Amino acid sequence: MITPLQVSPLRSSLHALAPMGLGTPDVESLVSYYCRLAVSHATTTDELGRFVAQAMRLELAPEFDWHARQLSGLRDAAMSWSSALSALTGVAGLDGLTFLPWREVIAQNGRSLVASGQYCPLCFAEDLQQARKPYFRLAWESSQSTVCHRHGTQLRQQCPSCARTNIRHAAAVVVPGWCTKCGEFLGRAIEDPIPQADVGALWKARQIAQLVAAQHSLTTQPCRASMLRAVEQIMAAMDGGQAAAFARRHGLGKSTVHHWLKGPGTPKLDVSLSIALHSGLSLVHLLTGDLSNWTPPTCNAQLALPLELPARPDRAPARQLDWGDIEQQLQAILQLPEPIPVLEVARRLDVEARQLYLRANRLTRELGARWVSYARSRRDLRLAVIGPHLEAIARDVLAEGKSLNRREVAKRISPEMLASVPRLDAVLKDVQVRMLAEQGACGSGTAH
Ligand SMILES: [Zn+2]
Ligand SMILES: [Zn+2]
Repeated sequence: MITPLQVSPLRSSLHALAPMGLGTPDVESLVSYYCRLAVSHATTTDELGRFVAQAMRLELAPEFDWHARQLSGLRDAAMSWSSALSALTGVAGLDGLTFLPWREVIAQNGRSLVASGQYCPLCFAEDLQQARKPYFRLAWESSQSTVCHRHGTQLRQQCPSCARTNIRHAAAVVVPGWCTKCGEFLGRAIEDPIPQADVGALWKARQIAQLVAAQHSLTTQPCRASMLRAVEQIMAAMDGGQAAAFARRHGLGKSTVHHWLKGPGTPKLDVSLSIALHSGLSLVHLLTGDLSNWTPPTCNAQLALPLELPARPDRAPARQLDWGDIEQQLQAILQLPEPIPVLEVARRLDVEARQLYLRANRLTRELGARWVSYARSRRDLRLAVIGPHLEAIARDVLAEGKSLNRREVAKRISPEMLASVPRLDAVLKDVQVRMLAEQGACGSGTAH
């Protein structure tokens, strides 16, 4: 008899912490969010990593290694972790705490993040003064930020108390703002004057800060084709369309520029900063390909030549997803009599499962919970049906004096039936223990 499914009510497995500073230059990084989440559950960062990996294995199978520490970057790990944390906290859009919104327009190669973590002591001090929990800013994670965009102070990687490095977050127990090695507050009053930033470093820090502030209100994901179109127009206006002159100006080989324009290449962040600096365009406008208010700097005006640009083969532009429509489809799938796993839903809608967790969080979590509960009861049902059969086989195998293992069972059962038993080895162990216990009971019953 098939029992009706018990769908457990949807609940958050992890606290729904609100991210700090969304939509501002001081937006929190995902590394920070992850550390604060561990603190709020009174657990270690390692334990939280294991929990996330275990909880998400059913739906996603990404690399879950917290120690990779590229959580806030723009590679696959950032996507996996932000979507997993969105799935488990119920807080949608946690990719907004990473550089992912720019992944089409910033090259992913090279060392883009500061692995050991840097911080501004004055920002930490201000957090406490303003009765806020100290947190790491996303802007600090970029290796292009060397100073604080607000205080103009050098970002630090060293503890002012114990003078050790790698003290910000690379530890099992992390309370953002306190040294992971000696436990001192990193934002305490600093006796030695902090060196002030040079103008160039401050300009870069402000560009990065504007970038992370802007990503919260992007309506479409910045795409490579638009960005490279802007680069070509800048090259035409400032270097007469000459790739060699343009490359020289930015300290690049001509082949690198060629690789962007004719091949699949994308400029690295430091190069985009150089283009922004020379052209007087902001980094955000360059990466979004927005030249609407741009005029070439006047000192180069004599170089500006009207040029007919050759047609360039573009990579297929990123598909713009209609989330209203996707939510309607998810709603319809939720009504299907037979639940389906989120990965299959994603395949049918031609969207990544991770995107579903980030953008259609509530519905996707509901679908996931429904599937998990269904899969569980289906497994229980299968075991109830096949259990007596397995016991009979086990009796035969043991009666022949053989050991009860997968190979012996496989000789006596159809492959389909064998495949339908989840975790066969554990089930066989259970059967064997039960039968030995029964034999023991019979033995003691006949002894007297
Ligand atoms: Zn600061
Ligand atoms: Zn310390």
